[in-house]
Amino acid sequence: MAERLKAKFLEQERLVDLVVGPDAYRDLPNLVQTASDGDRGINVLLSREETYADISPLRLDSNGVTAFISIMRGCDNMCSFCVVPFTRGRERSRNAFSIVAEASDLYARGYREVTLLGQNVDSYRWTNPESNELVNFAQLLEMVALIHPDLRIRFSTSHPKDITDEVLYTMARYDNICNYIHLPVQSGNSRVLRLMNRTYDREWYMDRVRAIYRIIPDCAISSDVITGFCTETEEEHQETLSMMDFVQYSMSYMFFYSERPGTLAARKYEDDVPLAVKKRRLQEVVHLQNQISRRRNQADIGKTFRVLIEGDSKKSKQHFRGRNSQNKMIVFPKREGLQAGDYTEVMVMDATSATLLGELA
Ligand code: SF4
Repeated sequence: MAERLKAKFLEQERLVDLVVGPDAYRDLPNLVQTASDGDRGINVLLSREETYADISPLRLDSNGVTAFISIMRGCDNMCSFCVVPFTRGRERSRNAFSIVAEASDLYARGYREVTLLGQNVDSYRWTNPESNELVNFAQLLEMVALIHPDLRIRFSTSHPKDITDEVLYTMARYDNICNYIHLPVQSGNSRVLRLMNRTYDREWYMDRVRAIYRIIPDCAISSDVITGFCTETEEEHQETLSMMDFVQYSMSYMFFYSERPGTLAARKYEDDVPLAVKKRRLQEVVHLQNQISRRRNQADIGKTFRVLIEGDSKKSKQHFRGRNSQNKMIVFPKREGLQAGDYTEVMVMDATSATLLGELA
């Protein structure tokens, strides 16, 4: 937004004193000073190197148990609907040792779960300048997993074209790497995927899903889905639904297509699916996802999971909430001696489409 709307905010509407792009952290003190002196400040330059490697974030609204760690910035893919490549710049990976140091420090301070974050984590690649050795994402996962068996690791987001069997085998080898992958499909139809410039097709995606279930049988997969992308036909929409049936996503972020200025799709394709059709297709996708989520959650009834307690349930102080490895939220009655940050075994007794309800096992 800073990149796209800087002139509007600063000059036309004079809404703000400062516009700061995501790569301008280090310039903030100067910009605040400039604005305090009465000038308007702006820094939206995109860096090719900035990764914030040596900046430790203050986690002000943290639950003290789970934390995000940024491992890379930017994206080199050019999905035709997406503004990220224009606003976040080229991919650059953070020093692997600084990531491990941040995760170790979090563990020492009582955190028990870290989520490694990037637009496209599977293309993480960092070369150690001293040894010239390359660290890829599977190797980074392993380095973080070795910090302590009680430090859980999650990651997001994976790109279907880049996720490797090496990553899957690393996940299978370490119990503390969670069995959960967010693998956005966007569309289940190969022609639409080509228009979206996703660089994989339906078969490729299905092959990756088969590999995940073969190597990590109890892995949960979630997705992003866009309905009504430019020129999408009814049959092509049906292929998105059949893909959802095939994968059995645990959860999806679902949207109807809305054009973003400056993207390839906005420049080259006609946004020709009527809004009512986009919305109806979205309803079908949401309805199917709810059915799948409910069915999957009900299949968990009677199973026992290792749960990391994140805090009190939102609805009742008598209950804890926590997640299992598959990223499902489980709510269960408290017991003396347990607190946020502890692991405990919980048996699932009941389920809605969003939450599992359990008892301490
Ligand atoms: S959708 Fe994801 S992979 Fe594609 S350009 Fe945007 S950030 Fe990159």
